[in-house]
Amino acid sequence: MPTHERIVELLRKRGALTRADLVRLLGVSRATVSTAVGALQRGGLVVETSPATSTWLPQPGRPGALLTLNPSAGAAVGIDFGHTHVRVVIADLAHTVLAEAHEPLARDHDARQAMATAAELTECLLADTDVDRAKVIGVGAGLPGPVDAHTGTIGSSSIAPSWVGLRPADDLATLLDLPVMVDNVANLGALAEFVWGAGQGAKVCAYLKLGTGVGAGIVIDGRLYRGAGGTAAEFGHVTVDPAGEICRCGNRGCLETFVGVPALLGQLQGQYGPNLTAARMIRLATDGDRRSARALADAGHRVGAAAAVLCNLLNPDRVIIGGELAAAGEIMLGPLRAALERDSLPFVHAQAAVLLGKAGDRAEALGAIALVLHSTNRHVARP
Ligand SMILES: [Zn+2]
Repeated sequence: MPTHERIVELLRKRGALTRADLVRLLGVSRATVSTAVGALQRGGLVVETSPATSTWLPQPGRPGALLTLNPSAGAAVGIDFGHTHVRVVIADLAHTVLAEAHEPLARDHDARQAMATAAELTECLLADTDVDRAKVIGVGAGLPGPVDAHTGTIGSSSIAPSWVGLRPADDLATLLDLPVMVDNVANLGALAEFVWGAGQGAKVCAYLKLGTGVGAGIVIDGRLYRGAGGTAAEFGHVTVDPAGEICRCGNRGCLETFVGVPALLGQLQGQYGPNLTAARMIRLATDGDRRSARALADAGHRVGAAAAVLCNLLNPDRVIIGGELAAAGEIMLGPLRAALERDSLPFVHAQAAVLLGKAGDRAEALGAIALVLHSTNRHVARP
């Protein structure tokens, strides 16, 4: 691939980069990068930008002028279907968010209704931002369950039953009249953190999503690792106790049955009533409530022990904690780090920096945009 095409591809996948970053990532000389960037700038595909305007997350340690794809060259749409919400984000090719919106969904919502809501939000945002649909290079959507890479259907261990067996990529593409690609939310969280958040620059990035469901996404050398069939990194269904509770996947004693939000709330609802939420549990723990803090610390310990296996196998340099429970911060992270250190090989945990994710509740929608920017071979919009 010629250097200028490789530069466009890197800017599409990584966002803003300096000329020095390009020299390092491409393994070519400064002069080669300068010549190719000059040609791309004259052609209007690449622009120089200041760090303050290029992204919405900090990019420390990046001196020098930042290069991005020309924002007006196209746009991507990211949709996050959560258990109780749908969120839509529109970004340009420079990875800058142009607009976002979200709507609540009922916990046992109908998947088709959720897709119709997402399509309406998308139309509104495209109109608000004056983005021509011909400029949209693709729509990414995050779904709360494993997506079969071959058939595009949602696997049966999905938390949201009305999605099982559907082909949301096809259905959404029909509703929106735009190309749509789907992936599970843990994979998208991993991509979002790699592109914009705590995973920037990592060689092997393991993202652990701790929420109602427990999952993981693994980015190796800038690419999401999906496995043979698209369902790799089902971290929540690692068996931690063969005599444990039956899991929604049909197995027994999966990690998720110990550390998923319903499991933690179940331990505390006797004290705090049936309306206890994850956010309130975390607030109680932060305010010094010993029971809530203990539930979160034990969860951190369990996750750390399971993460040690993952780290021994993959030797990541970054382990990023995301999802609803990440808000517990050090209450959970301390025990997590301790168990990881205890149960993994010394050189493995010495290399694995454990960090909180930075993308917060936008991680999935941002990751859906990254999915589009990573997957399409189209550098710019349709003519
Ligand atoms: Zn399971």
